[in-house]
Amino acid sequence: MYDVVIIGGGPGGYAAAIRAAQLGGKTALIEAASLGGTCVNRGCIPSKIWLRAAYLYTMTKRAGDFGIILSLSGLNLNKIVERKNGVASEIRMGMKSLLANYGIEHINGRAVIRNSKEIDVDGKKIEARIIIIATGSSPDVTGAPGIDMAVSVDQLFDLAKLPKSALILGAGSNEIEAANMLAVFGVKVHLVADGARILPLEDHDISQRMSQALRQQGVEVITRHNIMSLSKRETGYSIVLAGPKERSLDVDMVIVGKRKPNTEGLGLKNIGVVLNDDGGIKVNDSLETSVRGIYAIGDVTGGWMLSHAASSMGVTASENAMGGNKTYPSHLVSRGLWTIPQVGAVGLSEEEAEKKGYDVKTGEFPYAINGLAMGHGLTEGSVKVVSDAKDGDLLGVHIVGENATELIGEAVLAMQFECSVDELAHSIRVHPSCSETLVDAARDSDGWALYLPKT
Ligand SMILES: Cc1cc2nc3c(=O)[nH]c(=O)nc-3n(C[C@H](O)[C@H](O)[C@H](O)COP(=O)(O)OP(=O)(O)OC[C@H]3O[C@@H](n4cnc5c(N)ncnc54)[C@H](O)[C@@H]3O)c2cc1C
Repeated sequence: MYDVVIIGGGPGGYAAAIRAAQLGGKTALIEAASLGGTCVNRGCIPSKIWLRAAYLYTMTKRAGDFGIILSLSGLNLNKIVERKNGVASEIRMGMKSLLANYGIEHINGRAVIRNSKEIDVDGKKIEARIIIIATGSSPDVTGAPGIDMAVSVDQLFDLAKLPKSALILGAGSNEIEAANMLAVFGVKVHLVADGARILPLEDHDISQRMSQALRQQGVEVITRHNIMSLSKRETGYSIVLAGPKERSLDVDMVIVGKRKPNTEGLGLKNIGVVLNDDGGIKVNDSLETSVRGIYAIGDVTGGWMLSHAASSMGVTASENAMGGNKTYPSHLVSRGLWTIPQVGAVGLSEEEAEKKGYDVKTGEFPYAINGLAMGHGLTEGSVKVVSDAKDGDLLGVHIVGENATELIGEAVLAMQFECSVDELAHSIRVHPSCSETLVDAARDSDGWALYLPKT
């Protein structure tokens, strides 16, 4: 019998397996397809390679501002796909050898849970003291009639030819990254959000700044609309949008970003594992499901579907599986977008903090007057700090701008160690760096931003 058996070899399952083995558990990892899951094969890594190409393309166009004379003669998509496949394969090989290094058995096959101690893998019985479900999520291309002709965002990373125009349905991080990437490469993008704003789970300032950036890149941002119908034309598709104003659009490609937790076919109903309203597996603060001895982590639990959320949940679940008593700090899950400009966020938005009844205080600092950003010609964006006016507790940090995905790590650490706004305002940063904007925004919270005019 294994101590811990993990179902799914994405970032969640992989981290869980290593942590359980580090703690001395006899561990097995069951994967039906490729190690690395969505993250390595169709998500984070592929999208970041394509977005890096988009960034370099943009910067090459701006090289003249730095006295570099270059001419852009086009794009070789095959080369981007080749790089993506190469990096993914290298990561998968590294994962395989690390599993072996830790003595973790890697079982290839599809798992079905029979009871809290038994799993069936393609007819073979596996016994486990603890089971961790890490089966991830899949594209959900359902809804209006004809929507099944759309592609999912994760299919973009094998494109051999760019469409001339595309409609992207959805306004979460994957859809916004796709819109940015395609627009930079010259595709006419229509981004359709059913709500009042894009990135609806983020602070309104982030939504507003990113809408503005996308519009400047030529993206048409259409809010409060949804696809009513989609039909095939000789080339491309005709779409009718429902909303305050019904609209028709013709595009070459329709892209959908929605995803759903992979709970089907796992035998969950038979054993009494309860799901949330969003279809994800319900877990408590220790990440245990409604069935004792069965944990669930990552995308299959719904909520923020992010790789680092999955892997950190993997650590918590395995520590608990091996006798620990850890709770998962879900309020510290940061978010990142590798767009131009980047986005980084953690904690409560201003609106969420107000709804929760805090006496909210905010501070802001624009990239436009940060020396490094000015020097680099990347002055788009700002840092916003949300805190509790009563005790100075940091509640959230929201960044749009260069290096936001790295800079947000500072905010996570500050919140994890309960650093106050005043402590952040008095901390020292290297100059010139984008990290200075975080300190400046904290100072602005307390009304003494040194480099902003007196108010
Ligand atoms: C386009 C795109 C871009 C993204 N970019 C980012 C990003 O930049 N940063 C970020 O943090 N997140 C990003 N994500 C999200 C990230 O990829 C996921 O949050 C992450 O992969 C979830 O990890 P997981 O381990 O929960 O599941 P997954 O990575 O989905 O892995 C689950 C694994 O379980 C296996 N499996 C399923 N059912 C069974 C079964 N019954 N038996 C055996 N194996 C099974 C699957 O084959 C799969 O390999 C992106 C996603 C997409 C689609």
